Amino acid sequence: MAALKACSALVTGANQGLGLEMVKQLLEARCSNIFAACRDPDGPNSEALRELAKKHPGVVTLVQLDVADPCIIKESAKKVGSLLGKNGLNLLVNNAAVLPQKTMLTATAEDMQNTFNTNVIGPLFVIREYLPYLRMAAKASAVINISTDAASMTIMPVLKEPFPLFPYSISKAGLNMLTIYTARDLKADEILCISIHPGWVKTDMGGDRAPIDTRESVEGVFRVIGSLTEKQHGGFLDYTGKTMPL
Ligand code: NDP
Repeated sequence: MAALKACSALVTGANQGLGLEMVKQLLEARCSNIFAACRDPDGPNSEALRELAKKHPGVVTLVQLDVADPCIIKESAKKVGSLLGKNGLNLLVNNAAVLPQKTMLTATAEDMQNTFNTNVIGPLFVIREYLPYLRMAAKASAVINISTDAASMTIMPVLKEPFPLFPYSISKAGLNMLTIYTARDLKADEILCISIHPGWVKTDMGGDRAPIDTRESVEGVFRVIGSLTEKQHGGFLDYTGKTMPL
């Protein structure tokens, strides 16, 4: 899989946390065409990303992309498509996600709908709208859905600490199923697709108690992506390359 060599990549939720670190490490890997997508590129939360784009003109391109809005996804794909060369898009990372801290007893219909829109329907439409460009790069292209151990129906029932992850867990289990369907439907195109759990990471979402930082997590995630073969197609791995239970 040559996705990280001389590549083009698009990362959603690229303005902070793991997404921002992915843009930094893509730069270090000399990825030549990085589309850093976030919902508010001009907002205060995107300052670090704007700085990176300023330092690397023509390499890092900011893309306005709210993954909960299918119309904006379509527009962003048109824009990115017009900037991509004939080699297409090598790497698509569905990283953006939300985690409302709600339980089975407190989650509202709105919590469930918003979480599903961002964490499941968003990645689905991002994959569909960017598919023509992934197809142009087929055999050297991959879709990576950033999942979580909280999506695992094997792990969650035996967790001792009752984290309030109800809408999030359900949505990410849905994302894992999206990976399985995408892998099946894109097999003929030779576009690889997997879910990756990035570890428990110190970010806004992961909090301060998390044992690893974004650098270690993303190094691991990119190591896994760099060594992908058809064997892992449709699978669920963690950032160390270990197979995760569904
Ligand atoms: P952060 O909260 O730091 O970042 C989440 C990112 O998602 C932000 O850039 C946020 O943008 C973006 N986002 C949220 N909603 C939307 C939307 N509608 N459109 C576009 N972007 C959106 O979290 P992490 O960096 O920790 O999480 C990254 C991924 O890793 C997620 O998929 C998460 O589920 C997964 N993960 C993280 C773990 C951890 O311990 N940190 C553990 C397991 C999985 P904005 O700044 O505009 O809000």
